[in-house]
Amino acid sequence: MTRTTILGCAVLATLAAPAAGQDTAAPEAPANTAACPVAEFTMGVRFQQQSAEIRALQLQAYNIATEKLDAAVEAAADPSRLAVVTDLDETVIDNTPLLARDLADCHTYDAWDTWLPWERDGSPTLIPGAKEFLDHADSLGVAIRYISDRADEQKDHTLATLTELGLPQVSPETVLLLGPPKVERREIVAADHQIVLMLGDTLHDFDARFRKTPLEDQKATVAEEADRWGTEWIVFPNAAYGTWSEATLTEWDAEPVIEEW
Ligand SMILES: [Mg+2]
Repeated sequence: MTRTTILGCAVLATLAAPAAGQDTAAPEAPANTAACPVAEFTMGVRFQQQSAEIRALQLQAYNIATEKLDAAVEAAADPSRLAVVTDLDETVIDNTPLLARDLADCHTYDAWDTWLPWERDGSPTLIPGAKEFLDHADSLGVAIRYISDRADEQKDHTLATLTELGLPQVSPETVLLLGPPKVERREIVAADHQIVLMLGDTLHDFDARFRKTPLEDQKATVAEEADRWGTEWIVFPNAAYGTWSEATLTEWDAEPVIEEW
């Protein structure tokens, strides 16, 4: 973050605060986003961190995952041959305090230049339902593999974080960080396990076709793979960051008509 951006936001905040008796009708959001572009992410981070709806969606995803896992174990001759592959950030653990801190500083958090200190010193919390699901998989004898693009050179910190959160099957062998693309790390798991479920909030958590590809191609692949969502691929909501974050919105082309109702 630079002093200029902090100063810019502070000045804007001062300008936006109405003096006593002053007209309060002036909209403040456009002015704020002009001086502090990352401010346009605020609504997404608010949904991600504070909404009750996201907790319901996360629990819904883990309920579906549990149902599918139970069915796979029921049908398997040897559950220890089965594996669940899960992403970490915004799937098992919640990093929104870092994003909120950076937003407050007008610091563009998805440049990810504040991420490494967060991996070392931050305290992510569990996504609702994550620990219960992973403990359940562990109790069934299913292998768990954590495949995340956290930094491999800071792996000890991520292992410590996951251990502190009480997650099962956490070890240097079961946590596969960046390094090779996720597709290659999934192949390592698939060499000696049948992957029955994958969990993630970003689509390249599921398939290499989503990695570094244009949004329209991603949407087409989502449609092609319609049967896999909620069956083999369990997707979690993430309104705070993603390859969609600067996409142009589609607008209704009718002239606005304002009327009370
Ligand atoms: Mg993630």
